[in-house]
Amino acid sequence: MAKPLVDFHCHLDLYPDFSALVEECEAQRIYTVGVTTTPRAWPRNHSLASPTRYVRAALGLHPQLVSEQASELTLWEEYLPQARFVGEVGLDAGPRFFRSLQLQKEVFERILRQCAQAGGKILSVHSVRSAKAVLDLVEKHLPADRGRVVLHWFAGSASDARRAVLLGCYFSLNAQMFQTDAQRQLIAALPLDRILTESDGPFTKTGARVTRPGDVARVGGMIARARGCDANEVAVTILSNAKALIT
Ligand code: MN
Repeated sequence: MAKPLVDFHCHLDLYPDFSALVEECEAQRIYTVGVTTTPRAWPRNHSLASPTRYVRAALGLHPQLVSEQASELTLWEEYLPQARFVGEVGLDAGPRFFRSLQLQKEVFERILRQCAQAGGKILSVHSVRSAKAVLDLVEKHLPADRGRVVLHWFAGSASDARRAVLLGCYFSLNAQMFQTDAQRQLIAALPLDRILTESDGPFTKTGARVTRPGDVARVGGMIARARGCDANEVAVTILSNAKALIT
């Protein structure tokens, strides 16, 4: 039997066949973190994921929605004791969301502090054009012994990446992150024991169709090629990294 796969960041609830997809991840033995964009999605995600062995729901408040939904922070806080996984959270300083950046920082700081206080949470963190600001807040508010940060679709500089490693962060990598030499070099320099795979479906494409969690199989091969190492060694390490966080 093939080894289990790892999809550490997938918006399962944004696929038209959400509940069937949860069953598919379970049947195909894909360790999947189903992130959410609003805490209103938590109850259904939590109830579908809880009985499974491989799927985990994450309690999110997406930075791109903060300008309209900052008031949902209260609901997020209410559900936090039920959640071991938190995400999607973080900052987005891209042109469309730059206006709300100050509010995003306030919300993210509050989220990090609540996670630090609770302890033992695992966060899937968005950092578009804001790697430094994300790391500043993580360094200040969520020490590595109070929670684990997984940087999803990290696009910061090589020095941001080194700093993130020193802060104890993990990196979940998807197929679209291998497009340039600079990105491949950055990925090749990450410690293998901090690497995970993700689909970020349904926001990514595999060929002409929407990516599904099982497509992470090919990301392991891309990591191996970027690093010039054995694909089987990469797959085994990613699985053990994920198991150490999930189980
Ligand atoms: Mn996402």
